[in-house]
Amino acid sequence: MVNMEKKFYVLPKLPFGYNDLEPHMSEEQLTIHHDKHHQGYVNKSNTILEKLDKARKDNTELDMKSTLKALSFNIGGHVLHSLFWPNLAPTDKGGGKPDGVLGDTIDKEFGSFERFKKEFSQAAVSVEGSGWAALSFCRKTNRPIIMQIEKHNVNVYPMFKILMVLDVWEHAYYLDYKNQRAKFVDSFWNIVNWDEVNKRLEELSK
Ligand code: MN
Repeated sequence: MVNMEKKFYVLPKLPFGYNDLEPHMSEEQLTIHHDKHHQGYVNKSNTILEKLDKARKDNTELDMKSTLKALSFNIGGHVLHSLFWPNLAPTDKGGGKPDGVLGDTIDKEFGSFERFKKEFSQAAVSVEGSGWAALSFCRKTNRPIIMQIEKHNVNVYPMFKILMVLDVWEHAYYLDYKNQRAKFVDSFWNIVNWDEVNKRLEELSK
């Protein structure tokens, strides 16, 4: 029997220490990002769910357009950050090149890891305003496809499994890199957790 009890979102704990990603991501940057920004999306998502619960209970009207727009934005933020943290690995363990199924999949689609890295970096650097670069996978074509997500929810391919994300909102890097997003994107490759990305890809064949 499936447990259908209604719940609210919860901020996940980081899978590493706040200073484990230094010098690529400072303790201060990571702490504010996780404890303030990610927590903010969790809180706002829950507040909107409570507002929906209350309006339904009291049978009052809601502005559905603005409510659902805010809900999508905040849940999107929570979901992407929850994928982002395990995508990262402590400085002494992360980076390098992907191997296994992921390495093969990248080589087959992009020709080489270097070509993939270049395309993904360019996608990340050129996101207009706030957003994310994501590596997703389309099961219809068996192709990994890069998404350039604006905000948290624009340009998303529905139902594509997300394998890897990189947050390029200014709040992700401004303390460490000021306005130099490209430097932050470069440093990401030193702390990416390929085992996690590989695991997400392998889950597709289960
Ligand atoms: Mn963020």
